[in-house]
Amino acid sequence: MNEMLCPRPCPAVAAIRRDFNEVRDHLAAGHRCVDAWLALAELVSVPAHQLDCLARASALAPDDLELEIAYLEQRLIVDPGDTEASGALRAARARRVLMGHKPRIFRQMDASLTLGAILVQMGAITAQELEWLLEEQAAVRRRGDQVMFGDVAVVRGKVTPETLARALIVQTQQRISNEAAPRALGEYLIAGGLPLERLEQALTEQIYLRRVGRYETLGEILLRRRWVTRDQLEHALAQQRQDVLSLFR
Ligand SMILES: [Zn+2]
Repeated sequence: MNEMLCPRPCPAVAAIRRDFNEVRDHLAAGHRCVDAWLALAELVSVPAHQLDCLARASALAPDDLELEIAYLEQRLIVDPGDTEASGALRAARARRVLMGHKPRIFRQMDASLTLGAILVQMGAITAQELEWLLEEQAAVRRRGDQVMFGDVAVVRGKVTPETLARALIVQTQQRISNEAAPRALGEYLIAGGLPLERLEQALTEQIYLRRVGRYETLGEILLRRRWVTRDQLEHALAQQRQDVLSLFR
């Protein structure tokens, strides 16, 4: 009875993933398609509808840990008092820590570790502290605020800005050696010849500034320090934009 089960990625959905009606028709035609449900989850805006989509996607791919986590997180968005979901989420996140996986169901795959896993590897935090920080980050996000994991770790006093900057550099080096699709601006600048030590110093300054509520982009800091020219920065930003857009093609 699995003949209608689509492969992942599903080539049909790749071409239509921004079109609600086409994606719905793909499912209505009888395809059991994880990608179609994930596309729908992004196309609908009511949290309970997103939950339905994630539940169906997860049911089709019961071994997909990221999907299970996304589904459980959505359950808590719909019902913050769902204690069964929060327990299951804790367990699923613990499994993810052990596997060194990163949350990226809507993004490209690469083999790099999460920042949290790198901090554990460096001995900066324990696996238990990582779990606690992930919970803290998720709680902030449930209140509707976007917050980066690293900032949570600094603000909660678990790591210093210097340690976080070091972890970001380790992550950058891993991504470069994995030939993962570059994503952070720093990765493009490194590729363009910026020395790692300078990127690390600029990141440290950025984290310190953010901690006192001052938001300066990495580009602004590097320009102020005259470590990149405006031309170099614009070139890196243009490359980054192009790569991001190509993810949706
Ligand atoms: Zn499909």
